[in-house]
Amino acid sequence: MPSPSAPSGASGRSGASGRPSPAAPAAGAGGRALRADCGDCFGLCCVALSFTASADFAADKPAGRPCHHLAEDFRCGIHTRLRERGFPGCAAFDCLGAGQRVSQVTFGGRDWRAHPELAPAMFAAFPVVRHLHELLWYLTEALRLPRARPVHAELRAALAATDALAGGTPEELARLDLSAHRERVNALLLRAGELARAGVPGRKADHRGADLTGARLRNAALRGANLRGARLLAADLRGADLTAADLTGADLRGADLRGADLSGALFLAQSQLDAARGDADTRLPARLARPAHWPARG
Ligand code: SF4
Repeated sequence: MPSPSAPSGASGRSGASGRPSPAAPAAGAGGRALRADCGDCFGLCCVALSFTASADFAADKPAGRPCHHLAEDFRCGIHTRLRERGFPGCAAFDCLGAGQRVSQVTFGGRDWRAHPELAPAMFAAFPVVRHLHELLWYLTEALRLPRARPVHAELRAALAATDALAGGTPEELARLDLSAHRERVNALLLRAGELARAGVPGRKADHRGADLTGARLRNAALRGANLRGARLLAADLRGADLTAADLTGADLRGADLRGADLSGALFLAQSQLDAARGDADTRLPARLARPAHWPARG
């Protein structure tokens, strides 16, 4: 699950659901699709990860145990009704392509039902590869930023290194010092974000890691703001201008984005939008899809 201030939030939680695809799916090193393809996955997010009964999940589930809604064919039995059935956390999740990579590449298409002896290693590998794919996603986003050009070479090197790590064997993934790698990549992403925000003239709000739960930010001028890891749960951001605002890992669950301008927001992930509220007047980057559950008009 996302942790504030470090790259996070590009993935929430889900399963074999059929959500809309972004207009232009992000691609990491080697053009790898950084988007879940549940048809090629053995339902790993619905088994390997844990969740706690809350507003996001209607039940508890420990890591390593299949969700009772997971069908024999690795599809979610309630994927078209996740929100109504109390699983919006699943609806907003994207493994960013880690599930199909672990299923089809790391374990060569051998699934944990037919090969239960592989299950522990497979369930341990999935969250590691998911974190690495999250880093790939952020690095890909940083490379889209023209103002981050001074660090593009370092970003490309980090992208290749991260992709190589994600392609490791189960044993290599188990030995990986993920925290150290995340820290190195996060420092680079911070620099890229700062370079991009520096293009906005004047004073910029710094809300990094701030608790802005329920904050009244209607029509707020948040151009170039630092909102990395900010808690914006149920915040009123109607009509806010978030151009060049860094939203890395910001928690937007239940935030009201109706009429807000996010078209130039930095590091905004589809899963953040999927967890928020918006409408037809919310301006989005072309690469992201308008969530199907948003009303046409507020
Ligand atoms: S409800 Fe269960 S099976 Fe369905 S997406 Fe969520 S975790 Fe997976």
